[in-house]
Amino acid sequence: MRSRPCDPLKRQGYQFVTPGSSAAVKPCLWCVKALKGGEQCYKHQFYGIESHRCVQMTPTLRCTQRCLFCWRSFEHEPAEEGECPPHLILDRLAALQKRALSGYKPVAGVTPERFREALDPRHVAISLSGEPTLYSRLPEFVDLLDARGFTTFLVSNGTRPEVLARCRPFQLYVSLSAPDEETYCRLCRPKEEGSWERLQESLHLLGTRRSAIRITLVQGWNDHSPERYGALLQGSGARFVEVKGYMYLGYSRTRLQREHMPEHGHVRAFAETLQEHADYRIRDENRASRVVCMERVA
Ligand code: SF4
Repeated sequence: MRSRPCDPLKRQGYQFVTPGSSAAVKPCLWCVKALKGGEQCYKHQFYGIESHRCVQMTPTLRCTQRCLFCWRSFEHEPAEEGECPPHLILDRLAALQKRALSGYKPVAGVTPERFREALDPRHVAISLSGEPTLYSRLPEFVDLLDARGFTTFLVSNGTRPEVLARCRPFQLYVSLSAPDEETYCRLCRPKEEGSWERLQESLHLLGTRRSAIRITLVQGWNDHSPERYGALLQGSGARFVEVKGYMYLGYSRTRLQREHMPEHGHVRAFAETLQEHADYRIRDENRASRVVCMERVA
């Protein structure tokens, strides 16, 4: 039988909503660590999100960019995919998380109470893989999650502002991984013309909602021109900025080298320089994840 693009992803732990769709759930490393009583994700530290109660998922495997620093493989991106209706994804979320975590029940450190809580997730991070705005029913899906009481984090590359404008997550993330169009095209490799301009449109939506800009800092690639980043941040109105060091993980290792992964000190120093160019101040940091959280002050 011919192997499908999803098959290697299943071996990596992706739990697909239906056999024919590419909507999927996969617990992140921090979810498992927290379940065992260990450390939590920096989102716990910054925003109070309990990692063992957070579902990491995606409604699509497709993307509008091919970022060099992306963990995923571009080979597994389907040319076409079957979409699941929002209510079906929602109804399957807890069951898929349960299936993915069931093997951890007897593991040392997993208390019955924490395990029970993990099977009753309260947060959904739409961030596993791909660009979620390519899912045609994303706004409806986010509203459904909200109506069921989930805290939602939506992470987008910002190339489809017309979809983001209709989404109302608890917190909207837009990635800004370049201070200028030239760096953006080299590092994020957008598939369509006009992506940089559309990203700017998305940034301008951020002042109207709870939002964060994510800068993935890749040493030697995009850790320059803080004044240009500063101007883009200032114009956005986003409440938070997360400057996060690129991690040499997954399929990105076939495109970048270990030396492109900045130390936490480099990430911190870059964030300090950004303070000089925009009304954001460092609010918190997490060394293990090499991330600094900044908040708007004016
Ligand atoms: S936008 Fe995100 S999912 Fe798409 S290629 Fe870049 S890092 Fe990967």
